[in-house]
Amino acid sequence: MSQKPILISGAGLASLLLARSLLRSRIPFHIFERDASLSFRGQGYRLRLSTEGLDAIEKVLGPEEFQRFWERCGKTGGSGFVGLDAITGQVFEQHKMNESLNSREGLIVGIARGEMRRFFMEGCEEFVQFNRYVKGYELTEDGVRAIFADGTKSIEGALLVGGEGIYSSVAKQVSGGLLKVYDLGARGIHGQSPTAAFKTLGEGVFRVVDDVNPRGRVSIITNVRPDDMDDPNVEFGWTMVGVPGAIKAPNDDYSIVGKTAADIAKELTKDWNPRFKPLFDQMNESEAAFWKITCSTPTGVPEWPNEARVTVIGDAAHSMTPAGGIGANTAVRDSALLGQLLHDAGGYAPSVTAAYEKGMRVYASEAVKSSYGMATKAFSAQIDDSTKTV
Ligand SMILES: Cc1cc2nc3c(=O)[nH]c(=O)nc-3n(C[C@H](O)[C@H](O)[C@H](O)COP(=O)(O)OP(=O)(O)OC[C@H]3O[C@@H](n4cnc5c(N)ncnc54)[C@H](O)[C@@H]3O)c2cc1C
Repeated sequence: MSQKPILISGAGLASLLLARSLLRSRIPFHIFERDASLSFRGQGYRLRLSTEGLDAIEKVLGPEEFQRFWERCGKTGGSGFVGLDAITGQVFEQHKMNESLNSREGLIVGIARGEMRRFFMEGCEEFVQFNRYVKGYELTEDGVRAIFADGTKSIEGALLVGGEGIYSSVAKQVSGGLLKVYDLGARGIHGQSPTAAFKTLGEGVFRVVDDVNPRGRVSIITNVRPDDMDDPNVEFGWTMVGVPGAIKAPNDDYSIVGKTAADIAKELTKDWNPRFKPLFDQMNESEAAFWKITCSTPTGVPEWPNEARVTVIGDAAHSMTPAGGIGANTAVRDSALLGQLLHDAGGYAPSVTAAYEKGMRVYASEAVKSSYGMATKAFSAQIDDSTKTV
């Protein structure tokens, strides 16, 4: 184990799953995370896992660990979204999209992002350093070092993997600015409410759409799972999305959490059908959080001159809108692919990042394009010359 470690920036889903892969392959690594802990900020929202996503996770974890992971996932019956009109409470025919949501065993499989992160973290704890904000890197004669916001540098690694999400400085540096993330202007609010508030919906995945809101179209997506329905300790999440201009945080500060975000969600839904009211009346106000809808270049992951010692995974390489629910599913494919290539090479080798980027560009470009296409319809989001980058 005398080889230099793999350095990983950010302890998000993609990074932690890559770490699991490296752990199994006995390749040394260090992760640098800006937050003080895994539970530092709201982690509540739920991820739906596709067949591709589950396959990638299984490949990395191996059969036994995957079985444990599978048991942690929630499973919901039904085949897709049920579209409901927010005002009448009735099924909204136009929104019966042909979007299949189920994956393994014909079920809709989901898990909270925070829980997935904690699971992937197991066994990696000693290799994760918190309060380490990566702001770039420097190449050395025979390796690479991460540079932190306080001006200090990491130990020398064989490879730096930027997995620090949409604001990744590693992505900007390695791609010479070619990797861009656009702010689509649409905003969301994530909320959580006790399971009792969802009783009027029944089991399934619901999209509740308000097309007559004076601020513009506002909708929520939520997943009601039967197994947890009667557990008073469980809260289900819902995710609200508004077209550009519909949801506005005070002073445009989308890092605000809690009552301010909860009050805006309540105000936006005040005319909604009584069937949906409990979701907002009973919401856990402290968990309410804003989020911005962003997207990488919609034509796909750009080509940049490969740097053998630096690459990017997950949202850092391909940020997607929530339409289609494929961001995390694509991120875990990166971890599986890069992990496999590093395993096959017995650790860092000069050809690994080029091979990884070649493979990643194919499926990730397709995913970004598809998610953007869906978002243009669902959230009136559009990228043009005037669209700002984040
Ligand atoms: C409301 C919502 C719902 C979603 N639903 C789905 C879904 O159903 N299915 C799906 O597939 N995807 C979904 N997504 C997308 C999914 O969450 C992301 O694609 C996924 O989390 C990306 O993983 P990642 O590891 O690349 O980045 P992240 O999980 O964002 O992790 C990045 C990590 O890097 C850290 N970091 C950031 N900057 C720095 C820095 N400078 N230095 C060090 N560390 C840093 C962060 O603190 C974080 O821990 C959803 C997203 C949202 C917002």
